[in-house]
Amino acid sequence: MNLAQRRILIIGGGFSGMSAAIELRKLDAAVDLVEIDPGWRNYGAGISLGGATLRAFRQLGILDAFLREGAATDGLQAFLPNGAPLASIPTPRLAGPDVPGGGGIMRPTLARILAEATRAAGTTVHLGCTVTTIDDGAEGVDVAFTDGRRARYDLVIAADGLYSKTRERLFPDAPKPRYSGQAVWRAVLPRPPEVTGPMMWMGPVKPGVNPVSADEMYLFLTENRPVNDHVDPATFETRLRALLEPFSAPLVRTMRDQIGPDARIIFRPLEGLLMPRPWYRGRVVLIGDTVHATTPHLASGACIGIEDALVLADELARADGVESALEAFQNRRWERCRMVVENSGRLGQIEIEGGSKEEHSQLMRESMAALAQPI
Ligand SMILES: Cc1cc2nc3c(=O)[nH]c(=O)nc-3n(C[C@H](O)[C@H](O)[C@H](O)COP(=O)(O)OP(=O)(O)OC[C@H]3O[C@@H](n4cnc5c(N)ncnc54)[C@H](O)[C@@H]3O)c2cc1C
Repeated sequence: MNLAQRRILIIGGGFSGMSAAIELRKLDAAVDLVEIDPGWRNYGAGISLGGATLRAFRQLGILDAFLREGAATDGLQAFLPNGAPLASIPTPRLAGPDVPGGGGIMRPTLARILAEATRAAGTTVHLGCTVTTIDDGAEGVDVAFTDGRRARYDLVIAADGLYSKTRERLFPDAPKPRYSGQAVWRAVLPRPPEVTGPMMWMGPVKPGVNPVSADEMYLFLTENRPVNDHVDPATFETRLRALLEPFSAPLVRTMRDQIGPDARIIFRPLEGLLMPRPWYRGRVVLIGDTVHATTPHLASGACIGIEDALVLADELARADGVESALEAFQNRRWERCRMVVENSGRLGQIEIEGGSKEEHSQLMRESMAALAQPI
């Protein structure tokens, strides 16, 4: 299908929505993006990225910016709580022989890189704006906006995230986000020279670190919490330090001592959602966390949302009509996204139950092998 000057609306300017804008502008579509947050912010934690994400960055055209501003590294090191080496897991170089197999970056930095690329591509961005009505008719989709504008589109892409209003509007019976029984702690700390890539310590909880730039790294730690109750931010530092107490590894001890007011601690209960197909109705299609929000056990939620954007643009370019493109898009994406959400959920469940370490590492290996496949 020739997309030149076809009008496309993207609802939501997260990683998935921005990636869709960049790819569709390459096909010369006229792309509007509405983002409800007037500041277009992304909260200040680190994010871990696998080789498949860096491969997607290469296609998007943001790999060089990522390599400049983030940290690209090979392999993952696992240790016992006392710091003795346990395993060294290779990460295949999926973005090319010249690009390490994974990495990390601060979320606001990645969001800025994508936002700059979105604008540079020629997307019309409306901040502090959302849709009020969506009417899918014979001639196109008529949309009204909170700023009073009205416009007709050939396609609407909803990338408005886990609590998507578009999903609620179009698919009122879709599953709701579900609490997983775990929460994750993250903090930003200075990066010592010995941290050359992601490291994890396998104790009663599993703290890990990943570099996010030349001089910073982020600490992540998943905690089992049967009840999703409120945690007072005034207690964050004490709680996070207490969770690191069982670890005698010198690096973990140093990190524990560094946890103070500058550590930018974020606590986040983990939720998941996998919406069964269809992922579209008429000319409105749902992508990213809107249809497949995963817990971070495979560090691949952003990856599959960004890949959705690449595949959607590819299917639109090759199909005869919008509907057949959307059908092909959802069928091409389903298995990979289901795998990430369900395997991540299972990994969390094994951790909660104190279940088989063999099953955990086997599932991890299988998932990594599946993620390495082409999209
Ligand atoms: C604790 C945690 C850790 C994670 N760690 C990793 C990791 O290490 N690696 C990884 O790959 N993934 C990770 N993920 C997953 C990753 O963050 C998400 O999968 C990804 O951010 C989803 O992007 P998205 O664009 O689909 O949705 P979102 O990031 O939710 O973006 C949605 C956007 O839409 C906007 N919006 C919402 N409602 C409206 C509306 N009505 N109108 C207009 N705009 C609207 C929002 O403001 C937002 O900008 C993690 C997730 C969590 C919760």
